[in-house]
Amino acid sequence: MKKIAILGSTGSIGTQTLEIIEQHPNLFKAEILTAGNNYQRLIQQAIKHRPSTVVIANEAHYDPVKKALSPYGITVMAGEKSVSEIAAFNEANIVLTAMVGFAGLKPTIEAIKKHKTIALANKETLVVAGKIIMELANRYHIDIIPVDSEHSAIFQCLEGEKHNKIEKLILTASGGPFRGMSYEQLKTKTKAEALKHPNWNMGAKITIDSASMMNKGLEVIEAHWLFDVPPQDIEVIIHPQSIIHSLVRFEDGSIKAQLGLPDMKLPILYALSYPNRIKSAMPRFDFADYPQLTFEKPDTSVFKNLAYAYQALEKGGNMPCILNAANEVAVDAFLDDKINFTEIFDIVEKTMHKAPYIKTPTLDDLFETDKEARRIAQSMI
Ligand code: NDP
Repeated sequence: MKKIAILGSTGSIGTQTLEIIEQHPNLFKAEILTAGNNYQRLIQQAIKHRPSTVVIANEAHYDPVKKALSPYGITVMAGEKSVSEIAAFNEANIVLTAMVGFAGLKPTIEAIKKHKTIALANKETLVVAGKIIMELANRYHIDIIPVDSEHSAIFQCLEGEKHNKIEKLILTASGGPFRGMSYEQLKTKTKAEALKHPNWNMGAKITIDSASMMNKGLEVIEAHWLFDVPPQDIEVIIHPQSIIHSLVRFEDGSIKAQLGLPDMKLPILYALSYPNRIKSAMPRFDFADYPQLTFEKPDTSVFKNLAYAYQALEKGGNMPCILNAANEVAVDAFLDDKINFTEIFDIVEKTMHKAPYIKTPTLDDLFETDKEARRIAQSMI
């Protein structure tokens, strides 16, 4: 029985993880659940899954959660600090990081230091502190198993290939709701349009990131750290059907790909069951339903965030942290109807120029960078 701590159980990845746990009660148990604000959903989840502990990050919701869960003997904690502490709690073997944004960094570090296996959905953690996280993972001998479908695909392609050199990683991207549009067209796109992803049903932040292609940029950085491949050997290709989840080309020219229907439950299940595969009842892919799988080059003169992410990765140091902070602020502002869609690109670019650059940042430097870059980005809204 694997005991799972789900950080961000009330979100898109979190709820799908709980569905998987429910389908495999003999294999997995939800030991710890954490949420940000959605205390009602947290209460429902806890009553159903009976974890030993829940944490609500927003302390204002502590009382109703405590009142609802004390008859069940479930420990209730509150506050961001408690989320980090609970990630290191002894009872869990696997910590699934499904919080959104920079907030995932601290708990992930605490979990690694307590030798937990990390099932990593929170890509922002590797974007802002990839070097530090991978060094910690090596030092504490823990596995980081990707949940992101592209990285799960690459991870699966690399099984049995550890000794073989990777020539290229090819990340597929759906292209999002604005695929093929011009920069002028993007200027007038609304929140409702940006939130309508053609293939995936995800949380708001990652859905906007998909529409701006920042999501793919963050994934390039994530792939660099997870698989130790230089930026010039990581390619992005638009594949609107989202059936091929990503590919690896080896030195002999051979390419391995991983395919499946676009359903996040598949990579989540793999991350939880790794190194085994478990029989699942999920719908199967049928080639007859997809007579054409197509591919296009991304246009970084329109979807500028992808270019900025490559630039941040090339520059290194705290630049990816600056990129991420500026993007989080800009996406929040877009979701609050304070800026238009293409201003997301402007805010990211300008913050990258204005925030102080540090070549070899410590963890404290990264926390400081995150604060300063947010302040700079916010001043443009
Ligand atoms: P959601 O917005 O749906 O969920 C985010 C979760 O994190 C919620 O449970 C939320 O709590 C919690 N949370 C947010 N902020 C805080 C905070 N400051 N402290 C504690 N908890 C917090 O996001 P997704 O599930 O879509 O994405 C989660 C992560 O997984 C992201 O990093 C994303 O990039 C990545 N990912 C997501 C995919 C998807 O299909 N959704 C695919 C691949 C990667 P509450 O709702 O209670 O406020």
